[in-house]
Amino acid sequence: MSFLIVSSQRDPKAWVQALKEQDPDLDLEVFPEVADPSKVEFALSWKHPHGIYKNYPNLKAIASMGAGIDHIINDPDIPQHIKITRVIDEQLTKDMSVFVLSLILDHLRNLSHHYCSKEWKPVKYLRPEEVQVGIMGMGVLAVGVAEKLIRNKFNVTGWSRSQKEILGVTTFHGDDQLQDFLEQSNVLLCLLPLTSETENILNKRLFERLPQGAYVINVARGPHLVEEDLLEMIDSGHLSGASLDVFRKEPLPEDHPFWKHEKIRITPHIASVTNPSTVVPQILENYERIKQGKELNNVVDREKEY
Ligand code: NDP
Repeated sequence: MSFLIVSSQRDPKAWVQALKEQDPDLDLEVFPEVADPSKVEFALSWKHPHGIYKNYPNLKAIASMGAGIDHIINDPDIPQHIKITRVIDEQLTKDMSVFVLSLILDHLRNLSHHYCSKEWKPVKYLRPEEVQVGIMGMGVLAVGVAEKLIRNKFNVTGWSRSQKEILGVTTFHGDDQLQDFLEQSNVLLCLLPLTSETENILNKRLFERLPQGAYVINVARGPHLVEEDLLEMIDSGHLSGASLDVFRKEPLPEDHPFWKHEKIRITPHIASVTNPSTVVPQILENYERIKQGKELNNVVDREKEY
């Protein structure tokens, strides 16, 4: 039985090192150099070339290197019996919380504006208690972000699929309550998983339901956002701007209009990056569980797509 790493777009060196350190006897293969595909029962994966998993007849589980699994289930050639797992990691949540807080403070205090303007021209700013942050998706990362924002005196609302009770957060759920959620969000933060239901959810119709001057933050996935709609709504003055960490095409092409837009802040998908050494123990535990025929931890629901 062997353990396969597939990470064709990111250097897998840090993962190999962390796995070897924590399990020196691991029978490890790194795609594409795989000695015996029939021995592979477990794969650790990030943005694999579609179709490759058909070549591993005894594969039982694919573990995502991150919290998102859209890059795995987008591949139609992964048989239904293969379990897919995701990362749930305190460090990942902490990093996301700090990042989102930084983006919101940068927006409220006009920091990027002042750095770039090179003019001695104070601009009026808002305080956290004057701002309602609406979080779309109230999962693992969003709950951590909400706690951080509440500790910093922001008002926080959350919207999810099912009903939630989260201390200090006014919660909404489902399509029926989306309107009430949106109309009070001065800052809209997307932390949804990318699924067939959530793709293109950040569109003109949704933006129109936000208050005048709302600010949009997308740290989830690029295809949540209809890019032309964002540009139109900022240019019309309805939205005050946006901070984007994720894009339909990454790296964001050099000639993309977002780069030159003075009201759009761009970061290169760095909101929260998995740290292999903190995450390897949960991956190895699942590998052990496969060997012992036990249920895996952090399995995603393939029907729901997250
Ligand atoms: P979770 O799976 O824990 O949470 C997802 C949340 O979204 C749940 O609250 C769920 O509702 C809600 N949701 C899903 N579908 C819908 C829908 N159709 N309508 C309303 N709500 C919905 O995800 P995480 O918090 O762990 O991660 C969220 C995403 O963040 C990841 O999928 C990934 O794409 C992105 N990410 C980005 C990173 C970056 O660096 N930019 C880093 C890490 C993750 P319910 O609770 O009712 O099921």
